[in-house]
Amino acid sequence: RLVLGIETSCDDTGAAVLDDSGVILGEALHSQKEVHLRTGGIIPTVAQQLHRDHIERVVQEALLRSGVSPAQLSAVATTVKPGLALSLGIGLEFSQKFVRQHNLPFIPIHHMEAHALTVRMLEPIAFPFLVLLVSGGHSLLAVARGVDDFLLLGQTMDEAPGDTLDKVARRLSLIKHPQCSTLSGGQAIELLAKDGDRLRFSFTTPLRHIRDCCFSFAGLRTQITKEIMKKEAEEGIQEGTLLTCASDIAAAVQHTVAAHLAKRTHRAILFCKENSLLPPSSPTLVLSGGVASNQYIRKALSMITDLTGLQLLCPPAKLCTDNGVMIAWNGVERLREGKGILPPDADVCYQPKAPLGVDITAEVRAAA
Ligand code: ATP
Ligand code: FE
Repeated sequence: RLVLGIETSCDDTGAAVLDDSGVILGEALHSQKEVHLRTGGIIPTVAQQLHRDHIERVVQEALLRSGVSPAQLSAVATTVKPGLALSLGIGLEFSQKFVRQHNLPFIPIHHMEAHALTVRMLEPIAFPFLVLLVSGGHSLLAVARGVDDFLLLGQTMDEAPGDTLDKVARRLSLIKHPQCSTLSGGQAIELLAKDGDRLRFSFTTPLRHIRDCCFSFAGLRTQITKEIMKKEAEEGIQEGTLLTCASDIAAAVQHTVAAHLAKRTHRAILFCKENSLLPPSSPTLVLSGGVASNQYIRKALSMITDLTGLQLLCPPAKLCTDNGVMIAWNGVERLREGKGILPPDADVCYQPKAPLGVDITAEVRAAA
C-alpha cells in the first residue's frame, strides 16, 4: 500500500510518497522561510500565493522521485487542521481535485497528531507515550494512546516558544550578526548562546506558582524586551543595533525557555505516573517540533527523563519540522487501522483551530 502525503498548514509546501512500512519512496519540500524571514513574519496571503505557486510541482516531484503513478496510490493524506486558513485551503483544494481525478480515498490529517506519531515511522514505539511538541506555532504536552486517541495535558496560554525566540531574535537584530543572517530566530539564539554567559541576565521562569502542564511565553518576552531596552539605553545605542551583550541575553533566554519546558514536562511525567497513563516498562517521552532541534533544550529534557526513568526520543531535525513525510505516515497509520478514510467525493472543510484529542488540562491542574 502506498500513500501520498501533502502538507501546507503553515509556510512549507511538502509532499511525500511512503510505503506501508514507512519507507520514503520520494519526497519534495518547498520552504517559504526565507521570504517570511525578510518580511519579519508570515503574511497569510503571501504564504497562500507561494503554496499555490509550488504545490503542483512539489507533488509531481515527490511522485516522480518515488516512481509511483497516481493510479498505484492507495490513498492521499492531507493536513486539514490546525493551521493558517489560507494555507490549509490550498492543500485541501489541490488534494480534493487530485483524489477525484484519480478516484482515490482521502484521509484528512491533524497536523499535531502527525507530528506526534512521526517517531513510530522510525522506531516501533508502542502506545501510550508522552509527547512534547514545541514549534513556532505550538507548545503542548499530550499522551498519545492511539492513532486517533490523544489526551491533551497542557498547552501554551499565549504564544509558542519558537515564536518567542523568533521575536526576541528580531528585537536583538540578530539577523545583522554575520553568522546569523540565514538562520531562524531559534537557530540564531542557539548559536549566539554558545558564547554567552547566561548568568549575566536572569529571567523569571513562567508560571512558577502554577503546578500544571500549561505554558506561557508572552510574559517572558515582555521581561526580555524590557531588559533589552535597558541595555540599549545603557550602551547608548539605537533599537536595531546589535548589542554587545546579545550573546549573554541569548544564553539567558535559551536557559529560561529550557527550564520552563523541562519543569512542565516533569510535572506531566509525574501526573502520568500517578494516573498510570504510561506503561511501567520503558515509558517514553517523544520530543518534536522545530524547537526540539535545540541541543540545550534537549539536554534539559534529558535530565528530566533520566531523573524519572523515561527514554527520550527525538526524530531527526528534518522530520521535526513541517514536511510531507509525517503527513503520509499518519495516512499509513490510519489506513492500517481503517480510521478516517473518506471517499474521493467526500465534503471536507479545513479547520484553522482544532484541539488535539481530549483536553484534560483542568484535571491536571486540579491534581496539582
Ligand atoms: P508549526 O509547526 O507549529 O505550525 P512552524 O512551522 O513555525 O509552526 P517548525 O517549522 O516546526 O514550526 O519550527 C520552526 C520554529 O522552530 C521557529 O520558530 C524556529 O525559530 C524554531 N527553531 C528552529 N531551530 C531551532 C533551534 N535550534 N533552537 C530553537 N528554536 C529553533
Ligand atoms: Fe508543524
